Parts: sequence; structure tokens; C-alpha cells
Amino acid sequence: MRIPDALRALLPDPSQARGLEAPVRRLMMTHDLLRREPDRQRRWAAVLVDGRFLRREQRVERVETTVGAQIGAPPAAPDRMLERPVHHRYFRSVDPEPQRCSHCALPGRMLCAPCGGSGWVSTGRSGNEAVRCTLCGGDGQVACSVCGGSGRAVRAEAVYITDHVDHLHRVYLPSACGGPVFQMESWMRAFAEPPEALRFALEQRSASGPYRGAPVRDPGFHGHEFGDALQRAQGEMRFRMAQRPLRQAVRSFAWPFLELSWWVWGRTFHALFVHAPSGAPQVFLPA
Ligand SMILES: [Zn+2]
Ligand SMILES: [Zn+2]
Repeated sequence: MRIPDALRALLPDPSQARGLEAPVRRLMMTHDLLRREPDRQRRWAAVLVDGRFLRREQRVERVETTVGAQIGAPPAAPDRMLERPVHHRYFRSVDPEPQRCSHCALPGRMLCAPCGGSGWVSTGRSGNEAVRCTLCGGDGQVACSVCGGSGRAVRAEAVYITDHVDHLHRVYLPSACGGPVFQMESWMRAFAEPPEALRFALEQRSASGPYRGAPVRDPGFHGHEFGDALQRAQGEMRFRMAQRPLRQAVRSFAWPFLELSWWVWGRTFHALFVHAPSGAPQVFLPA
């Protein structure tokens, strides 16, 4: 299969590491790893998932409200992803018989909050001057916010709805991969938009084996293995979908990289080698 040029530029090629340095130090010694062929090379692929899930949370509460409250219906699902959460409330049921409002002490009246019922609020820096409270006009009382001042209320079942978008932006690396994995993971995660050439369908790759329960063969990405990164990404996706989002927009990417190992001074050093979206080679060294 012919590999598109845009993708070819992103498949890690250590021969392009010329000009990069990979120094490791011990005591007074410094060794540049990239000056010599690695003793072992493994081809891995990370999975990056970027998903937005529009979700509806709701809770139901018994409340008191004004007489004449109407039964409502849930709002339609938003037809797009939301920038910020949107809240709704409607009544699922309303009792027919009004009762004495339990919220107000005097029927229909409540204590005015700003003046604490005194009718006056202090002013000035010293706090010893006072002006008449503008909310209650000096009465010290205002109309009850629940019954609207009538003193009678109906009990109702209110449904509180919040529509909001959860953003998932995560990198999954094969857990069998050694070396500075956390460094590379945060570097990859910082790219909001990985290159289009790295797109691949997460679920298409999960086609089950020849018989039920058979281990799924790692489909790989142009010769790079996912290890357990693919199953972990798929597991997260199943979890998100089980929450039944109203809508979702998910993009997944495979990001091929190399784990290079050298045996130096009786120790193994692992470096990770990858190409940035620009095509520039990047090496991550042991700390
Ligand atoms: Zn007041
Ligand atoms: Zn009331």
C-alpha cells in the first residue's frame, strides 16, 4: 500500500535525527546516544483521542411555587455543541390544591435581606450613617419569592436540567513502552489538532477476533504497535458512550514513535523518537 506523503513525513525515521543531540551523563562522562545505532528499536503508536460530549444532567426536586404554575416539558436537545452550560427548569407535575406557603412567616411577606428587616442600611466609610433601604422602601419586608406575596402556594415536582459539554483530550501510550513516557505524553497532548494524516477510526480497529472472546490482534499503524493503548482508549470511549451523550464529536489519531534503547556504562538508556506535526524530529531523553 502506498503511504501518502503527509503521513510519510510523520513516520519516525531515525536517519533524520542528524543535528539532534541526545546526551546522557554520568559522573564526569557524557555520551551522545544518537552517535551510535541503538541496541534495540521498537515501533510503537500512541492513541490520541479528542472528543466532545454534549450531556444532559437532571435532578428532580419537590418544591413550592406560585399558584397557577404550569406543567412543562423538557427542552429539545441543543442542535450544536455548547460553549458554556445551559440551565433549564420545568414542572413535571403540579398539585391541584394550593396550601399555605411554608416559606413566609407572615403570609406573603418575608424579611428583607439587605436591611435585615430594619428598613435601614448603613452607608459611608464609618458605617454610622444610614439610608432607607431601597429594596423594601423602609418596610423591612418584601413579597415572598416563593408564593409571590399571596401567602398560598402549590407543591410541584421541578426538574432542573443542565446541558453541558465534556471535553476529552487524552493520549494513551503502550504501557510496555519504557523511557520518558510522561514527557512525551504531555508534549503530544499539547497539540490540540494533530495532523489529519494521523487520523484513524478507533472502533473500526476493534473488530473482534475469529471467535468470540478471542484476543483481538493489534491492528498496528503502518508497522507500529499500539500495545494496550488501543484497548484503553476504546474502554474510555465505551464508558463515555454508556453515559448516553445527546451528541458527540470524536476524532482519534494514531501517533507513531520509536523506543530506542542503548546499553551504555552497563546500563540501558531508553529514548523516545517521534515527529512533530511540522515533520520536525523530536527526541525525548531519560531525565
Ligand atoms: Zn429592606
Ligand atoms: Zn410565601
